Amino acid sequence: METPFAAAPAANALMWITQRPQLVFAEGRGSWLVDQQGKRYLDFVQGWAVNCLGHGHPAIVETLASQAGKLINPSPAFYNEPSLKLAAGLAAHSCFDRVFFASTGAEANEGAIKLARKWGQKHKGGAHEIITFAGGFHGRTLATMSASGKPGWDTLFAPQVPGFPKAQLNDLDSVAALISERTVAIMLEPIQGEGGVVPARVEFLQLLRQICDDRGLLLIVDEVQTGMGRTGKLFAHQHAGIEPDIMTLGKGIGGGVPLSALLAKESVCCFEAGDQGGTYNGNPLMTAVGVAVLEVLTAPGFLDEVAAKGEHLGAGLQRLSDRLGLRGERGQGLLRALLLADERGPAIVEAARERGPEGLLLNAPRPHLLRFMPSLTVSREEIDQMLAWLEELLRA
Ligand SMILES: *Cc1c(COP(=O)(O)O)cnc(C)c1O
Repeated sequence: METPFAAAPAANALMWITQRPQLVFAEGRGSWLVDQQGKRYLDFVQGWAVNCLGHGHPAIVETLASQAGKLINPSPAFYNEPSLKLAAGLAAHSCFDRVFFASTGAEANEGAIKLARKWGQKHKGGAHEIITFAGGFHGRTLATMSASGKPGWDTLFAPQVPGFPKAQLNDLDSVAALISERTVAIMLEPIQGEGGVVPARVEFLQLLRQICDDRGLLLIVDEVQTGMGRTGKLFAHQHAGIEPDIMTLGKGIGGGVPLSALLAKESVCCFEAGDQGGTYNGNPLMTAVGVAVLEVLTAPGFLDEVAAKGEHLGAGLQRLSDRLGLRGERGQGLLRALLLADERGPAIVEAARERGPEGLLLNAPRPHLLRFMPSLTVSREEIDQMLAWLEELLRA
């Protein structure tokens, strides 16, 4: 047997950034991960809602191999076929006209912020403030941390990037109160993911669209977590029947590889040469994977099946909550949370991972809830298996 890599923080050279369990993952297939000791784990985290087609999906594996053999990076200064194809596909399946590719969600959101500020300079007398929301999450760069409404992040790495006043989700008055001649846009997640799977109500999204139209503001949706089929439609804002001006995608768009996108309506696109770029933007290796992912997601019936499995998961979580006296479930499609009656979330996550002979990978973005973000290809049997194990763990 191979010698396991050193998993103890003191015995390896990785910079310490967070507490990690002392195990090393070696392989993955579908909804299952295998560690170096050969233990199997049912994976309801999927690289943080990233592996929308699960581990090792043949469409992704084959695309990576064949594109790697053809062309990896001609430089972002030249066109390449996969990026043209993916941009055309995303435009065809959305209300947006143009796409800029990047590697991470934070980078796509930085691009959205820059585009809105540029538009404000050109068309709105230098208006630059972007109203964002308490509990929101937009990434870990300085500007996206400043746009986020995560408690404590206003002083972490101070000073913040200015220009992101915070409103309360689902409270239109709190938004209206912040609008001034400095305001250029409103930016939110259709469902706050890291904040604990907190949905923006359909009427709230519709009213935001209205207020943006009335006041000449841009509506920016951060669909890094909710986009690419996660909620049972290709994009979560489609549930509200609205058309935002700008959208960002990440996570699922690459099915596990680093790919993100900034999409905008033609009327908003105002970058001038040199305003925006990035070494890896639109590289064919990653955008080819994006094309493969988009093809799977838009195949007939795929998203209906995601929605149906989401209902199945939601109903199962609700039954569990009823039986155990918990606080219910929320979310949409295959992005769901179970609300606990206490702050046992992190302890349940640990016990689930350590259970034997097979483990279960869950996530608790807040101590009083568990989040479920399985592969969009997860089976009903795997959902039922997870629910059965979870019930055992919650009863223990
Ligand atoms: C994960 C996430 C981001 C950040 O994406 P990275 O790829 O980690 O930079 C931004 N917005 C939302 C809504 C996210 O869930």
